[in-house]
Amino acid sequence: MIELGLLGYPLEHSFSPALHEAALRASGLDGRYSLYPVVRGDAVSLRDLVGRVRTGELRGLNVTIPHKQAIIPFLDGLTATARAVGAVNTIYLQEGRVWGDNTDTAGFAADLHKLGPTSGPALVLGAGGAARAVIHCLRSMGWAVTIAARRREQARELADQFAGVEALLLDAPGLQNARAGLIVNATPAGMFPDIEACPWPRGAPFPEEAAVYDLVYNPPETRLVREARAAGLRARSGLGMLIEQAALAFELWTGRKVEREVLHNVLAHIIR
Ligand code: NAP
Repeated sequence: MIELGLLGYPLEHSFSPALHEAALRASGLDGRYSLYPVVRGDAVSLRDLVGRVRTGELRGLNVTIPHKQAIIPFLDGLTATARAVGAVNTIYLQEGRVWGDNTDTAGFAADLHKLGPTSGPALVLGAGGAARAVIHCLRSMGWAVTIAARRREQARELADQFAGVEALLLDAPGLQNARAGLIVNATPAGMFPDIEACPWPRGAPFPEEAAVYDLVYNPPETRLVREARAAGLRARSGLGMLIEQAALAFELWTGRKVEREVLHNVLAHIIR
């Protein structure tokens, strides 16, 4: 019996149980994926859950808000990616040690590939945990990154952690003349239920020729994606990244590759 799960808070709306239970079924493995709601600051529960991975009682865990950084002191090691990003979304046991990895980075890279552009100036909207994974990924691909956040100091603070990354205010004057071959939304703006929200400031034109990647996956076509397509830009939502990061975590835990189509079909039934 393979015990997997998700650690974070709140968790009720997560799609991870459906994705991983489908992956278990498709792989012919007996197991389950449980939710472990743990509130911010509850170090005792974080230590306990990592301990249960160390003993093998749990095969592995996903980690989400608000613990992607807070979990790090309880782990025995970090992969190079998790160390560079400074955040963990997957923990697993290897040779008696509990490791933290960040599969958001490789998940984003794999799905961005389907959108097309490969290098140039990129604009990342938002300066939270997902933005860190995106920026690390884009920097390692050779993109010249600018962060735009609604709090200038937050954008500056994150930019300072990466060599050569610029910071802007996320508002119409700030983005009026922004140059970008790629715009990535790493804010939750536009996510269900607030589906009419859009992170791109009203009144600022989209940079010509930019492609748009929206990390938000619910709804599958966000307002940002819709408006970008209406302006003639290529645009993609975060569903593919969600699927990729889940499949990569599942592979770390079980050694099994999952058909992306299986996971896609699961989400197609849940998100309409
Ligand atoms: P986070 O750590 O809370 O960071 C969110 C960032 O967005 C912060 O900079 C926040 O600024 C900013 N923000 C929030 N609401 C905004 C708004 N209405 N307008 C402009 N900026 C706003 O969250 P996260 O973990 O980075 O996640 C961000 C989004 O990415 C979420 O929707 C999440 O579901 C999605 N995501 C998707 C995938 C995937 O696989 N597709 C993976 C990871 C994350 P303040 O600090 O000022 O609020």
